[in-house]
Amino acid sequence: MDKKTRIAIIGGGPAGLSAAMYLEKKGYKNYVVYEKTDHVGGKCHSPVHDGKRYEMGAIMGVPSYYAVHDIEEFAGVTHDGPKLNRAYKNLDGSIDHRFDKKLTRIPHLLKLKSQVKKMGRLLETKYKGYDICGHLGVSEGRYEGFAVTPGREPVKGVNPNLKDLALPFNKFCEINGVPLVTEIWIGPFTSFGYGYFDEIPAAYVLKYLDFQTMMNFVNVNLWTWKDGTQSIYEALNKKIAHPALLNSKIEKIVRDGKKVTITVNGKEEVFDKLIITAPLQCGTIENPIAQGLDSYLDVTDKERELFSKIDFERYDTRAYIVEKGKYPDVSYYIMRNMEPDRLGHCMVYYRRWVDEPNQPIVTYTLRKHRDIGKESLEEYKARPEVPYEEAQKLVMEDVKGFGAPAEQKDGKDNVIYDGRWYYFPHVFPEDYAAGWYEKVEAMQGENNTFYAGEIMSFGDMDETCEYSHDLVERFF
Ligand SMILES: Cc1cc2nc3c(=O)[nH]c(=O)nc-3n(C[C@H](O)[C@H](O)[C@H](O)COP(=O)(O)OP(=O)(O)OC[C@H]3O[C@@H](n4cnc5c(N)ncnc54)[C@H](O)[C@@H]3O)c2cc1C
Repeated sequence: MDKKTRIAIIGGGPAGLSAAMYLEKKGYKNYVVYEKTDHVGGKCHSPVHDGKRYEMGAIMGVPSYYAVHDIEEFAGVTHDGPKLNRAYKNLDGSIDHRFDKKLTRIPHLLKLKSQVKKMGRLLETKYKGYDICGHLGVSEGRYEGFAVTPGREPVKGVNPNLKDLALPFNKFCEINGVPLVTEIWIGPFTSFGYGYFDEIPAAYVLKYLDFQTMMNFVNVNLWTWKDGTQSIYEALNKKIAHPALLNSKIEKIVRDGKKVTITVNGKEEVFDKLIITAPLQCGTIENPIAQGLDSYLDVTDKERELFSKIDFERYDTRAYIVEKGKYPDVSYYIMRNMEPDRLGHCMVYYRRWVDEPNQPIVTYTLRKHRDIGKESLEEYKARPEVPYEEAQKLVMEDVKGFGAPAEQKDGKDNVIYDGRWYYFPHVFPEDYAAGWYEKVEAMQGENNTFYAGEIMSFGDMDETCEYSHDLVERFF
């Protein structure tokens, strides 16, 4: 492709800004990044309280976040944040000793350990190719892409077993004789808002929590950033040749097969290529920060048909100030609240800074679950979610019960920030198995349009940036 090609990138989150970085590294400098809000970073959102930044969105990474590492090097940032620590609580607020090596638990823990080992072996052998970024070929029993290594060597192969990755993760574990491993995978999956194991294809679970990453979670070998994950993308935005144009309201995008014409803030701009990292989902989206792609793009019938299958998680974060003297000693996970019958309850309350009683505590909750065996996608979509306000009430009652109640201010809980996210766009097992990704990947480049961002790989910082890297390598 001609290096002077004029490229529009929609979205100034990790996917959009890293696409700009990788394009620039390859010699493409004629690009524009359009960001609709007044800041970059998207779901890496780290507001300031009392002079310190806390996390309302992304929190952590692991040493195998190679794309994030590329950005750190490019932008001069390092993972210099507080060390993470955690413990577990029961619903009644008592300490949950599930992972303690108490005598009564030893037989179970040994069984679990042996299944985790078996899972590691299976992933390396039977499911070779499972951990490549993106989903191209998986439903057809192939893998094609770049290895998840610092060098990202191109890899390609046939492995019919990969088709199993379309199954919900709990089924996948069952057929492989490792049902107990879900007890470990669930922590950084469901509580991090990625849904429930009876509804989400194993491919998503394992592309994010590949064996190496999962072991980093188990051993708490994690990265955080002192100024928050948002600071990574703020630094990147300062370093790229053309920082994102903030407050860009895209009214219309028209593609005529030759050029892409974008009407933004009342003005028309013409481009050769379009990279969309904003949500691809079409139709009405029940979320205050997301808009359907068809509200501004001239979507084709094929795009509409495929992108209407996308669903997302209703994942909320709430930051509040704790009553004096009740500050929690560590972050707590409530495993029982990670089961679907506890929708709307607090799954985690997170304490970022050690010895800082004034820092906000952030709670995490999910509000919708699809009972795959019982309801079709249409029935599920038509069914209302747990209302946001109701869930937030439950969460505040929960933290009170856990011994970390909110400080009262003007007769109300002292809540300082709410995040109601359009989170982890994905497709369900039936659409995954029917080749949703192969169909979307086959459309890459049609109409001068490329798709990137969370849905194309997985909703975490590294997979999204890695996918932008791969996209640039494959097509530019
Ligand atoms: C609570 C929470 C916890 C998380 N924890 C972690 C974690 O610990 N580790 C981790 O790796 N990841 C974590 N994530 C996920 C991670 O933040 C996301 O996967 C990542 O930010 C996705 O990047 P993206 O660029 O694809 O999308 P986004 O971050 O959503 O960015 C998209 C950008 O596009 C902009 N945009 C949308 N529509 C338009 C439009 N029409 N025009 C112009 N701009 C538009 C948005 O404003 C936004 O800035 C977490 C996220 C949340 C919310």
